[in-house]
Amino acid sequence: MRRTRSEALHQEALQHIVGGVNSPSRSFQAVGGGAPVYMKRGQGAYFWDEDGNRYIDYLAAYGPIILGHAHPHVTAAIKRAAENGTLFGTPTELENTFAKMLKAAIPSLDKVRFVNSGTEAVMTTIRVARAYTGRTKLIKFAGCYHGHSDLVLVAAGSGPSTLGIPDSAGIPVSIAHDVITVPFNDLDALREALERWGDEVAAVMVEPIVGNFGMVMPKPGFLAGLCRAARDAGALVIYDEVISAFRFHYGSAQTYAGMPDEHAAIEPDLTAMGKIIGGGLPIGAYGGRNEIMEQVAPLGPAYQAGTMAGNPASMSAGIACLEVLQDPAHYEKLDRLGAKLQRGLEEAAAEAGIPLQVNRICGALSTHFCDHPVTNYAEAQDTDSEMFAAFFREMLNRGILLAPSKYEAWFLTIAHTDEDIDVTIEAAAEAFKAIKR
Ligand code: PMP
Repeated sequence: MRRTRSEALHQEALQHIVGGVNSPSRSFQAVGGGAPVYMKRGQGAYFWDEDGNRYIDYLAAYGPIILGHAHPHVTAAIKRAAENGTLFGTPTELENTFAKMLKAAIPSLDKVRFVNSGTEAVMTTIRVARAYTGRTKLIKFAGCYHGHSDLVLVAAGSGPSTLGIPDSAGIPVSIAHDVITVPFNDLDALREALERWGDEVAAVMVEPIVGNFGMVMPKPGFLAGLCRAARDAGALVIYDEVISAFRFHYGSAQTYAGMPDEHAAIEPDLTAMGKIIGGGLPIGAYGGRNEIMEQVAPLGPAYQAGTMAGNPASMSAGIACLEVLQDPAHYEKLDRLGAKLQRGLEEAAAEAGIPLQVNRICGALSTHFCDHPVTNYAEAQDTDSEMFAAFFREMLNRGILLAPSKYEAWFLTIAHTDEDIDVTIEAAAEAFKAIKR
């Protein structure tokens, strides 16, 4: 597969854009380096690069593109928004419509606020939790990624781990001191941390279903125990549902029937969202109980604002995306195709004698090259990075695009077909044979 245009564009980008990419996770540094693929056009489950090569897309733009590229309902909504004027600096009815949709799907949200990215949403939940509790510290879980604001770039998974910088430079030690990191799925470690720092902890933040060191489900009792322990210590619980909201069903992890815990026991105080809810346009949102959200200006003393926040185009795309997702048949399809893909990958790997762990939740799955289960970050780190890199390259050259990191998930879209999955499994079978040492 020739990618001469991608290579030329990458050389040009290196002159003008730091590292050639506007988000480090797009670089191919962890999968052998060289030029990332420059996409020109996407339609449904496919996209075409600048050299005219077609790929089946399992990146889904790191999650948002659950409907596939250029879904007509979303495209029409964006066109309409553009024709009506893209930004007013005043409220619009679209914001009410969308807030009501989110509240109806996620009952822990009394009030929401729209922002422009997952990073902003998460960052603000921490500020609000601090304002509400009058405390400073944050407990988070190793390998969970919560965007690139200062406090959460300590022991961060996803892109930072891929590039070997889980603890970013440029963050003062005084700030890092306010973050306590414990292993995911380890209730004892959380309880110990709360015993030690409990009366200083403003919030415990977690991805209720992890998407940033592969897809990882909480063990039975983990989230319920987390919520109980946090509340006993007077700390708030923040769910980062930037990936998980609307990924597994019409709602979030909080209301997902596939969770191992009782729903009522695991209601967070604050929730951060992003990705899917923007229908492919920039968005973030956060929300929670009234008395907590009343900390936010103009009602309260915690300040958060945004020139672009709640802009009509993002609202329109988000509303249109959720309108489509209201049909449960889409999630049934994602689950069915996900199961088929998982089975196919596992069988092909076994046949080739390649150790592979596939974690899957509905239409999202991860592939770790190892022969042990992956339930926390340490187990995800202890997997074969070189084998993943070789697999990534073999798949790329067969027209299958995965995220260029062993920590990132494969995301199915409602546009993928049975035939796409068959082609992917066939490609994987060849790739496994090719990377066998
Ligand atoms: N939280 C989680 C769980 C994420 O996966 C991400 C992005 N991958 C973020 C927050 C940050 O979102 P954004 O990139 O939109 O700032």
